[in-house]
Amino acid sequence: MPTTGLRPSPSATSATATPTPTASATPAALPLAGRRIVIDPGHNGVWTRRELRKVPSGNGRTKECNSSGTATNAGYAEHAYNWAQANALARVLRARGATVRLTRPDDHGEGPCVNLRSRLANQLRADALVSIHADGSLARGARGFHVIVSTTMVGGATVERASTALAKRLRHALETETTMPRSTYIGGGTALSFRSDLGTLNLSERTAVMLEMGNMRNATDAALLGSATFRTRAARALADGLEAYLG
Ligand code: ZN
Repeated sequence: MPTTGLRPSPSATSATATPTPTASATPAALPLAGRRIVIDPGHNGVWTRRELRKVPSGNGRTKECNSSGTATNAGYAEHAYNWAQANALARVLRARGATVRLTRPDDHGEGPCVNLRSRLANQLRADALVSIHADGSLARGARGFHVIVSTTMVGGATVERASTALAKRLRHALETETTMPRSTYIGGGTALSFRSDLGTLNLSERTAVMLEMGNMRNATDAALLGSATFRTRAARALADGLEAYLG
């Protein structure tokens, strides 16, 4: 039998069970409080021949310090997109209570080599490292985003499994919250790419993924990546994916 109104409640002015906005917002207001997230805006503000020097990239291999990254046909550089997208994501994550650090301080000059991109996440014992890139495929009709996971992380199989789980959360958020489609040219429709050649991921002891947020050489993708509206939506999607993974 309904007992509406029988439970004593000093502040209640009616018998309705509808929570007030204040009461419902308080517990979930900072869902990422206490979380540490490192964002790596891929590449650097400038590229010089010095970045051809070889550095360790994991698995006993070496790789060049860094590459220049790609650009849209109109000349929007990948490093600038990565920087803008990383900062948009950082704003959303901080607003949700996370402690966020970036692997480079600005979009000018030379930044860290690929062997140092995971160092901050390792030192901070971060909950996640997210490396942001955009791709540059000249294949006809190549579109869409994909998420890269390392198969040879120094963190071992447990960290690789966690990274795959994060990749799937991020994929779901991007495809449901933005208009960027899954990659048409990487991952056979899964938008997931498993690799062993990326120092940024290989050398991570923490959950880590690399995002290729779209194909800069495709006109439709380039228009999205160049749009602040898209970047805002993508930042929210990535934050939602991280929150789902960390929840
Ligand atoms: Zn890149």
